[in-house]
Amino acid sequence: MLLAGLWPLAAKAQGWSAASFERGYVLEGQASAHPSPQRGCDAALIQQLDRQARLQAPPGGWPGTPQAVLVFNVFSGEVMISHGERVTCGLMSDARTRDSRFRSSVGQVVVPTAGNQEPIVVAWQSPIRPEWIPTIMLGGPSPLQQHDTARLLVRTSCMAVGLALALSALLGWMASRDRMFVLYTASCMLFFIWQALITGLSGYPYPWLPVSSWLVQWQAVTSLMVAALMLAGLWLLCAGSQLLPGSKVVVQRLLQAILLLAFCGLLLPQSALPILAIAPQVLMVVGAVLVLGVALLAQLRGLRDGLLGWLGLVPFMALVIGELVGAHWLVVYRIEIMQLVATWLLLITAFAFNRRLGLLREQRDQMRRLADTDGLTGLPNRRVGLQRLNQLITQAGTTGVLSIGFVDVDHFKAINDTYGHDVGDKVLVEVARVMAESVRADDVVRMGGEEFLVMLPGVDLAGARARMQAIGEQLAQIQLRSSAPGLLVTASIGIAQYHPGDMDMAALLRRADQAMYGAKQQGRNQVFEA
Ligand code: GH3
Ligand code: MG
Ligand code: MG
Repeated sequence: MLLAGLWPLAAKAQGWSAASFERGYVLEGQASAHPSPQRGCDAALIQQLDRQARLQAPPGGWPGTPQAVLVFNVFSGEVMISHGERVTCGLMSDARTRDSRFRSSVGQVVVPTAGNQEPIVVAWQSPIRPEWIPTIMLGGPSPLQQHDTARLLVRTSCMAVGLALALSALLGWMASRDRMFVLYTASCMLFFIWQALITGLSGYPYPWLPVSSWLVQWQAVTSLMVAALMLAGLWLLCAGSQLLPGSKVVVQRLLQAILLLAFCGLLLPQSALPILAIAPQVLMVVGAVLVLGVALLAQLRGLRDGLLGWLGLVPFMALVIGELVGAHWLVVYRIEIMQLVATWLLLITAFAFNRRLGLLREQRDQMRRLADTDGLTGLPNRRVGLQRLNQLITQAGTTGVLSIGFVDVDHFKAINDTYGHDVGDKVLVEVARVMAESVRADDVVRMGGEEFLVMLPGVDLAGARARMQAIGEQLAQIQLRSSAPGLLVTASIGIAQYHPGDMDMAALLRRADQAMYGAKQQGRNQVFEA
C-alpha cells in the first residue's frame, strides 16, 4: 500500500531534480518488484547441513507476533533458517548483503499465526572445531537487531583501529625510514585481514578479499599467523629480549617459521582443516605459559619495562583460559572477544614502540649534542662554529655588518708549566664562561687549544673593538685563588670585519688570525685590527 503510494514520487525524484529539495525531503531509489529479500536455498547445499536445532513453540503455540531468529558464530558453511514455507539461507559473509536488518549474522523474521505449533528450524554444517558452536538468538526483531548492531559496531571499530594503526605506522616509516615501522604496518594489515575474514566483513558490501571458496582455509591460516604475532608481541612487551638476550634470534626464527608454515596450510585439503584449526589454540596455550614465565621472571629481576607486558597479557590469558574451559561468554562473543584482545595488544605494542622510539630519539639527540660541543668548555666546537659563521656571512649578504674576534690566551704554555695541566683546563673553562656570558652563547667557539672565535653579527669594526676590549678586561679578572694564586690571564685578540668582497669565510678568518699575531707582536694583552 505504502510503496504503491510512493511510486509516483519515486519516479519524479529520480535524477536529483531541484524540485525534490523543495519538497523538504529526498527520496532515493524506487519501489521494488523483487519477490523476496532472501536468497533461495540450494537443495544440494541443504543436504550438507548435518546439524540442526528445532526451536519449539512455547506452550499454547506461537503468540502471533513477529519472531526474529539470529544465528551468530558459524565460521564456515551455509546456515538455513526455516519455518513452514519460509526458508532463509546465508553465509556469515553474505548475510548482510541479503537482508539489511541483520548485519553480523544470518537472520530471519517469521510471523507464525497465533497458536501455531510448528518449530523454527535452524540447520548448519558440522563446525571444523567441535567447540565452535553457533549462538542462536530468538526474540523480538527490534531488540535482536540492536544486539546485532552492537556486535557489528565492535567488529568494524576493531578493524578501523587496526587500519588507523597501520596508517600511522606507515607515516612513521616515511618520517624515519626505520624498518620496525614497516614490520608493524605489515602486522596491523594482517590483523585487519584476519578480522575481515572471521567477522564475515570480507563479504561486505560485496566480496573484496580474493579468497572465494577458500574462506575457511584463510580463516585458519590467518588465525595461526595472528596467534604467533600476538605471542611475539607479548614476549617483547614482557621484556623477553632484555631477560634472555640470546632469545631474540630464536623468537624471530620461530615467528618466521610459523608464518611460513601457516602459509603452506593453504595448500592443505579441506579434510585437514580441523588439524590446522587446532594449531592456533595449541600455540596460544604453549605460548601463554612461556610468556607468563618470562613476565614473572622479569618481575623477579625487577625489570620495570616488563610491567607494560602485564597489561597485554591479562586479557590474553583470560582468552586462553576461557578457551580451555569452554567459558560461556567466550562461546557467545568469540569473534568480538578475539578482536578486542588482539586490538588491545596492537594498541599497547604501538605505545611501547613509540616509547622506545622516543628513547632512541633522545639518545640520538644526546650523541648529536656530544658531537657538536667541545667536551671541556661546553662551547660549540670548530666544525659547528664554522657552520655558524658561514650562516652569519650568508645572512650579512652584501649590505649586512658582521665582525669576528680571534682570541688566543697569552703564554698559556707557561700557565700549564707553572700550575699544571689541571689549572690550565680550569683557565680554559673560565675563559669560555666569560666570553659566553658576554655574547650569544652560540657565537663563541673553541677553535682548538687555547684559541677561541667570537662572532659579532650586526657589529662593525669599532663596535667589535669596544666589545673585545671589554672581554679582554674581564679575562684579566679571572682568579683561581686556591689552585693558582697570582695567576693573570690575558689574551691577544685580532678583530676583522666582513667585507662583501670577501670571496669566502677563509679570507675573513685569515685577516682576524693575522690581526691576532699582530697583537702578539705588539706585546700581547691587546686588541689589534686587520
Ligand atoms: P702565545 O702567547 O704565543 O700564544 O703562547 P702560548 O704558550 O699560549 O702558545 P702555544 O701555542 O705555544 O701553546 C699552547 C699550549 O696550550 C700548548 C698546549 O699544551 C696547551 N693546550 C692545548 N690544549 C689544551 C687543553 O685542552 N688543556 C690544557 N691544559 N692545555 C692545552
Ligand atoms: Mg695558540
Ligand atoms: Mg697562546
